[in-house]
Amino acid sequence: MLGCTCCGLAALAWSSAARAVGTGRSDASAPVAPEPNKAPTSAARSAAGLGSADDWRARLLQGSRSLWLARGEAHVRSTYWTPDSGYDGEAYKEICWVLRDVQANKSFPISLRLLDVLCGLQNWFAYNGLRQPILVNSGYRTFSTNFRTEGAALNSQHLLGKAADIAVPGVPVARLAGMASLFGKGGIGMYVSQNFVHVDTGEERVWIK
Ligand SMILES: [Zn+2]
Repeated sequence: MLGCTCCGLAALAWSSAARAVGTGRSDASAPVAPEPNKAPTSAARSAAGLGSADDWRARLLQGSRSLWLARGEAHVRSTYWTPDSGYDGEAYKEICWVLRDVQANKSFPISLRLLDVLCGLQNWFAYNGLRQPILVNSGYRTFSTNFRTEGAALNSQHLLGKAADIAVPGVPVARLAGMASLFGKGGIGMYVSQNFVHVDTGEERVWIK
């Protein structure tokens, strides 16, 4: 099984310069949608670990927040948060479904902060003229799936719905990892030979494999 080792590897020093689907929905553990109108922009920014409105990262999340994700034949383009209405429960569930454990066919409430990190990355690429879906290799993992994933850490952030292994067509993994590291402030794993990047909202650390 292809999968990242998450926090199983010792973090490597990374210079600041370098940091420049299956089918069917699961009925079990369906994500509980966040309450609409309960997340003002400032609170959401804070939850995302972002700074003031002048922060370039905050600017990437201004306005409505959408994600365009692809996993196998499944595609979803969902606006999960708007300034006027807050979180959209149905859109959130769609996104959680794409990020589910496909082997166990089990969905899980994915970290809202992780969604904001992915949204910010996608907006940044779109700002630079690259409008592509984020390809999802892995999202939430049940303990059983994680245990069977080669090299996966037993305390993987995937178990908590706080990690995703992603790629973006046309974007080298080093560039994607560098941008994710700048934007996300969490864990970043660059898997060069496997051509994907692990992004999580855990402690800040970086590794390359
Ligand atoms: Zn991972």
